[in-house]
Amino acid sequence: MERIEVLKWLREEEPARLEMLYCRADEARRCAVGDEVHLRGLLEISNHCVRSCAYCGLNAGRRDLARYRMSAAEIMECVREILSFGYGTVVMQSGEDYGIEAGWMAGLVRRIKSKTPLAVTLSLGERPEADLIAWKRAGADRYLLRFETSDPALYDRIHPRLAGRVSDRVVLLRRLREIGYEIGSGVMIGIPGQTFESLADDLELFRALDLDMIGVGPYLPHPATPLATAECAPEGRQVPNSEEMTYKVVALARLLCPEANIPATTALATLNTAQGRELGLSRGANVVMPNVTPAAYRRLYEIYPGKACIGETAAACQGCMAGRIRAMGRSIGVGPGGRKRLRTARRAARARDFGLRIDSASPACIPQSEIRNLQ
Ligand code: SAM
Repeated sequence: MERIEVLKWLREEEPARLEMLYCRADEARRCAVGDEVHLRGLLEISNHCVRSCAYCGLNAGRRDLARYRMSAAEIMECVREILSFGYGTVVMQSGEDYGIEAGWMAGLVRRIKSKTPLAVTLSLGERPEADLIAWKRAGADRYLLRFETSDPALYDRIHPRLAGRVSDRVVLLRRLREIGYEIGSGVMIGIPGQTFESLADDLELFRALDLDMIGVGPYLPHPATPLATAECAPEGRQVPNSEEMTYKVVALARLLCPEANIPATTALATLNTAQGRELGLSRGANVVMPNVTPAAYRRLYEIYPGKACIGETAAACQGCMAGRIRAMGRSIGVGPGGRKRLRTARRAARARDFGLRIDSASPACIPQSEIRNLQ
């Protein structure tokens, strides 16, 4: 799909035409990654952060927020819970917290990998390369780091550098790939100052980076952060931080990167508690990350207000998600659920088939038997 078509879809508002986009994305999802929905247990292990991101409720400047860091014993207890729920992955996320020492984290990863069949995903910010290598050697499988926006000026405005350090998340993602991680990235949708053009560039960058995982969600203003009162791009150029815009980006990400694992995010569920996840799953997504953080910590990991499921228990989230997925006629994925790669020749054909032209006929579906899992 050409950039001009991406831009056209981002600006599209006609419900019937958007329905066509969503149908094609759903078809591409089914053909490329199947009907399984993979569940990843999301564990928010620390809300300490050295960064001053202008959008994030965990930023270092917030003196009013009680900070926590989970112990290894607490984390292992949650890992046991994840296993009992049948999830295939534990995702450990935190602010950029150097109280999480590299050696300590490597030991924890080694313990999880030796005692469980779980895939381990880390999302711990822009850590030094030595830490990232140590965690990979300990057995970590995947690393999530959103580049947030591909517009360098906007990125610098919302993501101040640490003194004496460059912050280039795109370079870091490429390095993470070389180190051997599956890499995940993504953006917030509707950041003040984000234009349609820059969002189209973000989507192109997903494809250029050949991302294994793509997480996108609406930007949700936190009143205690500077970005909440920031100026928007001029009328007609500013991307809205709406539910509809998020679905469009999920669908376009699926069409541009058919093989990627794409979650229906918590931020989306925050905009539409009743149906956000289901609509995400029927418009290109194939992953959900139910929260397994203990309740007392969960309410302190308030990156934006009104976060979905903040008052739920891990067991309640598990039951709720399983029920929702089955009600959609989809199945729950078993095992780690890593990226599936299509055979190269088929891939080219598939890419041609999914090239999005509004009037073109439906692409022929590649049977699941043609898809092999390289994990
Ligand atoms: N520290 C790690 C990092 O920066 O990658 C992981 C934690 S960070 C809280 C996870 C993600 O939350 C960010 O990449 C950002 O996209 C998202 N986030 C933070 N504040 C947000 C907000 N106000 N609205 C929507 N998403 C937000």
